[in-house]
Amino acid sequence: MSRSVLVTGGNRGIGLAVARVLAAEGHKVAITYRQGEPPPGFFAVRCDVTRTDDIKAAVEQVTIQQGPVEILVSNAGITRDQLLIGMAEDDFRAVMETNFQAAVTVTREVVPAMIKARWGRLIYMSSMSGMAGAPGQTNYASSKAALIGFARSLAIEVGRRNITVNVVSPGLIETDMVRDITDTRRAQALDRTALARPGTPQEVAAAVRFLAGDDASYVTAGVIPVTGGLGAGH
Ligand code: NDP
Repeated sequence: MSRSVLVTGGNRGIGLAVARVLAAEGHKVAITYRQGEPPPGFFAVRCDVTRTDDIKAAVEQVTIQQGPVEILVSNAGITRDQLLIGMAEDDFRAVMETNFQAAVTVTREVVPAMIKARWGRLIYMSSMSGMAGAPGQTNYASSKAALIGFARSLAIEVGRRNITVNVVSPGLIETDMVRDITDTRRAQALDRTALARPGTPQEVAAAVRFLAGDDASYVTAGVIPVTGGLGAGH
C-alpha cells in the first residue's frame, strides 16, 4: 500500500537514502531541505526544522500534495563537537533544538492525523553516541538519548491507535557529517566496530524500510542498532 511519507533532512546523506528506498517501495515521499537545490524525484519543501512555523507550513504543504503524513522519518541533525568545558552555550542549545526539539515539533504536527486514521509509523534517527556516549559530544549524545526516551513514551501513548514509534541508532556512517572528523577519532571508532568499516546510508535506510513496512507491524518502542557492532550491548 502506498503511504504518505515525510523525511526531514531528506536532501542528502542518510535522509536521501531513506527517501529513495521508501520511494522504491512505492510510497509517496516528501522531503524537507534547508539549503541549495533539492534532489529531483521528490516533493521537496524548504524547511528549517528549528523554526516551528516552517515545520507547520511544511506539514501543511505535504498534506495538500500527498495526503496526511502516515510515515514520519525524523532525520535532520547536526553536530557541533567540543569538549564540554570549551563548548559555547549556543552550540549545546543548537544541537538540542535541531536534533531533539525539532523532532518533537514535527511529531506534534503529524500525530493528530495518524490518531484519526488509526495508523502511523514514527521513526527517529538517533545515534549510538546517545547510548554509549562519545567525548566531545555531550550536546549531540544528550539530544540523541532524549529521542529514545521521547519515542518510548510516545509509543505507549499512541500504541492503542495502531501507531508504532521506533528509533534507529546508527554507528559511523559515511556521510558529510563525519567527513571532517579527525583520523584519530575515525580510527578509534572503527577499532570498536566489529565489522571494522563504516556503514553506508543505504544500510541505515534498510532498517528504516523494515520499520516502515508491514513486516514491522508488531515492533514498537524499539531501538534498532545499525552500527557494525559499535557500542554492542546497548
Ligand atoms: P548530513 O550532514 O549528511 O545531513 C544532515 C541533514 O540534516 C541534511 O539534510 C541537512 O539539511 C539536515 N538538517 C540539519 N539541520 C537542519 C535544520 N536546522 N533544518 C532542516 N534540516 C536540517 O548527516 P547524516 O545524513 O549523516 O545524518 C542524518 C541523521 O543521522 C542525523 O540525525 C545524524 O545525527 C544521524 N546519524 C548520523 C551518523 C553518521 O555517522 N553519519 C551516525 C549516527 C546518527 P541541509 O542539507 O539543508 O543542511
